[in-house]
Amino acid sequence: MSETTKNRQKRIDSINDVSPSFCLAKWLQVTIDLVHGTNHSCHHPKRHVIPLKELEQNPSALHNTNFKKEKRKEMLDGKRPSECEYCWQIEDSEGDENSDRLIKSLDHWAYPHKEKVANLPWDSDIAPTYVEVMFDKGCNLACGYCIADVSSRIEQEIKKFGPYKELIDHRLQRNEKVSDDETKNPYVVAFWKWFPEIIENLNTFRITGGEPLMSVNTFKVLDYLKENKAENLTLAVNTNLCVTDSVIDKFIKNLKEVLDKKHIKKFELFTSVDAYKEQAEHIREGLNYQQLLSNIEKFKNELGVDVIINCTFGIYSIPKFDLFLDDIYKLKQKYSRIILDISYLNHPRYLRANLITEEFHETLRNSLEFMGSRVADFGGNSFSQYEVEKFRRVYHWIVTRVSSSEQAQNRADLYTFMTQFDKRYKKDFLTAFPEYKKLMLQCEKSYYFIKKLTVGEDYV
Ligand code: SF4
Ligand code: SF4
Repeated sequence: MSETTKNRQKRIDSINDVSPSFCLAKWLQVTIDLVHGTNHSCHHPKRHVIPLKELEQNPSALHNTNFKKEKRKEMLDGKRPSECEYCWQIEDSEGDENSDRLIKSLDHWAYPHKEKVANLPWDSDIAPTYVEVMFDKGCNLACGYCIADVSSRIEQEIKKFGPYKELIDHRLQRNEKVSDDETKNPYVVAFWKWFPEIIENLNTFRITGGEPLMSVNTFKVLDYLKENKAENLTLAVNTNLCVTDSVIDKFIKNLKEVLDKKHIKKFELFTSVDAYKEQAEHIREGLNYQQLLSNIEKFKNELGVDVIINCTFGIYSIPKFDLFLDDIYKLKQKYSRIILDISYLNHPRYLRANLITEEFHETLRNSLEFMGSRVADFGGNSFSQYEVEKFRRVYHWIVTRVSSSEQAQNRADLYTFMTQFDKRYKKDFLTAFPEYKKLMLQCEKSYYFIKKLTVGEDYV
């Protein structure tokens, strides 16, 4: 066993010594949705409501809710909170992969705080070290896989056209907005009371949306950081990079001031694009592919910051993925520290990549080979082994067989969704995806076949 493996095992043992269900993420990591007044630690359990009553007395209830404290107590007592099922399933399965409980607890924002956390009374408040926040759901895009809860454009779409027929709750709002005005939202008000208390020990602060560059609070964070130091902080923003040039320029100007003053440790830009040109633009209504790529270059040229491109691989990614990879490769050749992070889309299930017929497996293999032939050990100006590995995992997931009844239902639903989505946004799926003519015919057949069966059952 190497020294590194021994050390890692020692640290894992020290976490399990506190208790076999102890997880530092329950104390130190939080995702807060200020629009709907909910939070969760970590991001796997279901979100729970932050009671306004708790917040009135204590702004740290944005993270330290009584509900979460009960879960922490269970962990300290060696009981498994049921909301952490995601990890218990991994820990109870065969194989020796570590669960996220251990992976997260060993992370740099968590492990150094282990002793302090383990010795705190269970009902104490604690300042998190990793915070993700959604201030506002204002968004200029209406991506096919997104929902009204996080995009104002989708909210408008549903108001105008109503729910999707035969796809009962697709894209619908699941929680009520607390307030239309983000400056008057009591959760946002509490956040600004709490922020100065936690910023000093914060390792990562990540702003999500909606589109964060459309939120006044994102600029308020930058204003705060211009005046105040947080030298250990990594600030991150998830943006679609398709807002106006003046907004991008304003953001860069303000961020530059923070970075020039060395008030934070670093900035990371997260953005998302999942396919090539018109195919990416079809599935993400409002996206401008070229604008997104140019804005990545703008951030690189003006600030030199790390850029992480999230690619949620769905059925729309496949036909021209090699061309997309080529665009990313060209960016990598020009700039270092551009990372492509590929994961597969699970929801909605009718946009999953594994809906394809076998004839597309070769297209996929070609893309994988394209990426695999442009690799350097540590990435640098090529793809890294890690990036290729993530794509390989997606590939294996796609080519694994799915039950034919599930496949038929998902294909039928793809047809149902796409015909309505196209109508709402005056698009044409087959113009953007001519490669899928045959596949869509199959989807249509599945739709009528299932409909007939369903109608039949109704009339029995
Ligand atoms: S135990 Fe797992 S699911 Fe629960 S907080 Fe930790 S990492 Fe998240
Ligand atoms: S840009 Fe993000 S928040 Fe906006 S619709 Fe797309 S996925 Fe949703």
